[in-house]
Order: sequence, then structure tokens, then C-alpha cells
Amino acid sequence: MSQISRRKFLAGGTVFLSLAAETELLAGPIPAGMAEEAKVELVAPDVYFHQGQVADNADAVCNNGWILFEDYVLVVDANFPAGARLIISKIRSLTDKPIRFAFDTHHHGDHAYGNQVFVENDGVPVAYTGVVEEMKRYETGYYDGKPGRWEKAAQAGRKDLATTRLKPPSVLFSKDLIFDDGKHRVELMHLGVAHTHGDAVAWLPKEKILFTGDVCVNGPYNFVGDGDVGKWVATLEAAKKLGAQIVCTGHGARAGASVLEDQQAFFKALREQVGAAMAKRAPQDAKGQMEAIRAALKGNAQIARYVSEQGSADDSFPSQVGKVYEELTGRKLAMLATERWLARHAHGRAHGLALA
Ligand SMILES: [Zn+2]
Repeated sequence: MSQISRRKFLAGGTVFLSLAAETELLAGPIPAGMAEEAKVELVAPDVYFHQGQVADNADAVCNNGWILFEDYVLVVDANFPAGARLIISKIRSLTDKPIRFAFDTHHHGDHAYGNQVFVENDGVPVAYTGVVEEMKRYETGYYDGKPGRWEKAAQAGRKDLATTRLKPPSVLFSKDLIFDDGKHRVELMHLGVAHTHGDAVAWLPKEKILFTGDVCVNGPYNFVGDGDVGKWVATLEAAKKLGAQIVCTGHGARAGASVLEDQQAFFKALREQVGAAMAKRAPQDAKGQMEAIRAALKGNAQIARYVSEQGSADDSFPSQVGKVYEELTGRKLAMLATERWLARHAHGRAHGLALA
């Protein structure tokens, strides 16, 4: 969002985002704190991690991984089309093996809109069945001709969408899917509802590496609008039980096992705070507790990095609070519609306008 349109929005004026403003946003500088060195990391023999949204690989919005099996390559997440092309070029500089599978950890654009690019490179998009169910919910342009998220993201200025199309995953699993050639083993698993109703992770039991998609992020990147925060805590518990030593998150730097603890602690604290300070209050009254809750969470060093800055363009905190309030009370915070909009936009920004 441009400064001008943002100011207008905060002042309560009409929300109007021109194409130019959105394009400016897309072409704009990498947000502070993200300008780390672009990297492809070899995390274990034949296992790579690629961090999105850092200096030289900004085309790749989400994080990616890839595993070089004996006969083919399995990629974790398809990214946006521009990200897919970048990833494929980086894989091609490492190996001539066919890039056979692209695993979508969930349905969001920054994780799945690059599917068609993989198809054109002889790959097959693979996902948990819940990904297609979510696509049917949100990608109405593909399923019944009514503009959905893809069309809105294209309209908002994601130029790479113009040269390709939505390609839902066509190899689906209902619980898990295992790739094992004797040397490497990757288990794709749905552990429960979390960031969406269709999340799955990639677990490498030999190397104890977990690719989480957005079930776990490392920084203020949680978008909660399509998922369930209460169930998310339980899904993170299941993820912790795997015993990962290296956690490649969906956004932000890769980390050790503690990032699963931290992500879970953030949601637990958020639920506790909203439960204690807001749940007994009516929406209009409850809203007044927002900044006190933010301050309390910011004061907790373990989870402070998950709490967005008040008033920042990426401030998704009000929508996170609103979602939890709704889960706990069945009522909506009065401003939620607006804040959901902001959150969607913030998520779209963090995710390259996937959900604008
Ligand atoms: Zn997402």
C-alpha cells in the first residue's frame, strides 16, 4: 500500500488502492529486517533450503526446499510463478535430474501459484486433499468463473500471473505420501488444521529435518484468516513430536526445534491474553484491550518477534486478536471486517499479494 492510500485508510477514508500503488509496492524495497543475504543452503546431503523474500531472491516469496533423490528432484512448495522460475533455475545449476514433483504445503498463492510452471518443466504438483478443498473455496475463478483470489492478485499487480494459470495439484494424498528410494525418505503429512484447513508438512526422518510450510514461520508472518488458532496449537504439538532438529519454516530464517516451541507459545499466549482480557467483554469494549495485549506479548522475549508493529503496513495483530476472540466467544470484534481486510492485505504483502 502506498503511504498516501495507507494514511487515507487509517484516517477512516475510502479505501482505494490504485494499480500504480500496488505495483509500486511490488517493486518497492524489501521490508526492513528482510534484507539478508540471499541464500541456497545445503542443510544435509542432497537437501536444500531456499529462503524467500531476501535480497537477491525476492521473486521467491515463500521459502522453498528441494531434495535430490537418485532419479528425480522433489521440491517443497511451488511459490509464485516468478519464484518457481527462480527456483527451477537454481536447481538446474545443481543437477540435470528431472524436477518431478512440486509439493504444495497449502493453497496460498505464494506456495501454489507456481504449479503450472513446474508442469511446463515436466513436474507434477502434489498435495494433501485439503489443498484442493481450500482452492475450491477461494479460487472461484478456476472452478466456476467468479473472480477469486488468483484474479484479485493479478488485478492487484502480480504480473507473473498473466503469463501462466492456476493449476491445482493433481496427485493427492488423504493422510500421507512417502517418497523413499532407499537413500532418502520424505514423508508428506497432514498433521491437522493450522494456517489453513489443508496444511501438510514434509518430514525427513533420517536427517530429522522438517519443512513446515506456514504451519510454522519465523517472524511476524502469521496469517490466521483461513485457519483455526486453537487447532493450530494442537497441530504444532504434533509437529513437535516428530523430533526435528532442523526446521525449515514457511517464511523467515530456518531454525532449530525451538522455533516450533516459539510459534506455539505465541498462539498459546495470544489465546490466554484474549481469553483473560477480552472474552468476557462485548466486542466494542473488548477492542480497547488490543494494545495492552500487544504490549504483553511484545514483552515476552520468546515470542516478541511474532508480534507485528502497531500501525505498520504489515500489522496483522488486530486480525489475529479478532480471530482468537471469535474462536473463543463466537462473536466478531466490530472492526474485524476492516481489520480482516488489512490482514489479508498485509498477508498479501508478505506473501506477494497472493491474497490481496
Ligand atoms: Zn500462507
